[in-house]
Amino acid sequence: MCGIFAYFGEKTHSPKLVIEGLKKLEYRGYDSWGIAYKKDGDIAIHKEIGKIGDVHNIEELKDESKIAIGHSRWATHGGVTQKNAHPHFSENKEIVLVHNGILENYLELKKNLEKKGHTFRSQTDTEVIAHLIEDYTRTHSFFDSVKMAMAEMEGRYAIVVMKKDEDALIAARRGSPLILGVGKKHGEYFVASDIPAFLKYTNKVIYLDDNQICTLKNGSTHFFDTIKKTDVQKRIIEIDWDIESAEKGEFPHFMIKEITEQKDTLTRAINQDPETIKQVAKKIESAESVFLVGCGTAGKACMVGQYLFSKISNKQVSFAFGSEFENYKNFINKKSLIIAVSQSGETADTLEAMEIAKGNGAKIVSIVNVENSSMARMSDFVIPVKAGQEKAVASTKATTSQIAILMLLAYACDGEINIGKQLLVNAASQINDMLNPRYEEHISKIAEKIKHVESMYIIGRGENYPIALESAIKLQEVSYIHAEGFAGGELKHGPLALISKDTPVIALVANDEQKKNIISNTIEVKARGGFIIGVSPENQEVFDYWIRVPDVGEASPIVNIIPVQLLAYKLAVLRHVDPDKPRNLAKSVTVK
Ligand code: GLU
Repeated sequence: MCGIFAYFGEKTHSPKLVIEGLKKLEYRGYDSWGIAYKKDGDIAIHKEIGKIGDVHNIEELKDESKIAIGHSRWATHGGVTQKNAHPHFSENKEIVLVHNGILENYLELKKNLEKKGHTFRSQTDTEVIAHLIEDYTRTHSFFDSVKMAMAEMEGRYAIVVMKKDEDALIAARRGSPLILGVGKKHGEYFVASDIPAFLKYTNKVIYLDDNQICTLKNGSTHFFDTIKKTDVQKRIIEIDWDIESAEKGEFPHFMIKEITEQKDTLTRAINQDPETIKQVAKKIESAESVFLVGCGTAGKACMVGQYLFSKISNKQVSFAFGSEFENYKNFINKKSLIIAVSQSGETADTLEAMEIAKGNGAKIVSIVNVENSSMARMSDFVIPVKAGQEKAVASTKATTSQIAILMLLAYACDGEINIGKQLLVNAASQINDMLNPRYEEHISKIAEKIKHVESMYIIGRGENYPIALESAIKLQEVSYIHAEGFAGGELKHGPLALISKDTPVIALVANDEQKKNIISNTIEVKARGGFIIGVSPENQEVFDYWIRVPDVGEASPIVNIIPVQLLAYKLAVLRHVDPDKPRNLAKSVTVK
């Protein structure tokens, strides 16, 4: 969601550099973009709707400047127009800034500024911040003005600000990601929403924490904590990401690359430090209440986790989507444990749930793919997902790894971590065999058959019910076909009315105690004309098409989602949808 990229240093081609950096952040999803840079003692700005396109055709690239800021916008306040695209100027055009997040009290601040004579050129909340900072600069320094504006700003955000007559950049954050890249040359810095944007130039990073301001000036940095009101010394961290893994390689899309990588990612996910897993299991056992929290696909992984804890370790755990967690805050106290799950570790709704839980004294475990993310940094225990960079908006490899880790924890709570590990090692090797060209071809044929349908449904029972929900998300995200997941037993209570001749229904039939029941539910669908695609270790008479999955016992949710990920991908390609960047969606959901 939204990309920020800024450059401050000695390189003179900063406009080009910033646009290239924004392109590296394209996977996050955006609808418009823009850059601002110093030019002949003034600030030049360029904004456009839509994708960045071929960088080499952009006129501004030729301009020379050593300081530039850029932004790819995912609109929250105000339509997708050139005027609303960032960067935004202040009233006198001396302040210019880019912003990720939402300024919650922007209407109130805007009214006050209007009374003081400010006029606004866009409909965004962001522009208000630029005017607010300018208002303070009349009587205060640039740094103090940003600090004072921050004291008035409500909500979660990351900003990078530039001032016409200052050879400086100011970056600040509260709740949205912002990372500093320390260049190889003395005094050279990058500021970005995510590391891949500047990985080509440096792997030395400084993570800005909430309520911190960073000033880049005279070739050095100054960090300040606006809550503690003190300067802060920050640590430079060397990260070991390789550039290759951030590229598509021989694959046409990141989504198929990431689906295929599940041959290896599962093995990495279960290769955890046994001490951490045991310690977390102990915390789960001793906590008075345990909540799994996640959003979207990570939320579905949490729901699978709920079933696994109940079945494997006889432990009742609750689940809430990040955005719904606040409703349960009365049950959260010092004896509670929150297990927060996220790919990016920056999901705003989950972060907010963690803040509420922390405020009530609860302990926090996070299961995140991005190891130094905001969620990881505010947790008592971190379990890394180790799936490697996931760039397609629709999560695939991170999902199966998250489920695997939750399963490992469930077994560890039962004192049987080795049994869990063995089960997962077996599942990983079976996935390796399953993902072959013939398998893909078979799924392509099914995709061809159903590519024009308007709606489809997915059913499952037990831990495969959340997989039915997750299957629906995958299909919606990348194929744009209306898809819904149901618990098999719920069909007769309503959704069965939606089934008519040839409606595709995917039945997730695991070899478990629910097998007979889900087959009965599938027969009920077939009797109403439904077209059945069975995902199962064995073929059944009721299936019109059979997608074979290995029989991996409790790990069935992991193997069952993979063919549906493939089907969604194949449908996207057949329907001419870019599977990596679905419309209206963003990868790292950093706004509420
Ligand atoms: N709320 C701001 C806007 O709508 C920023 C959105 C973003 O994070 O891209 O312009």
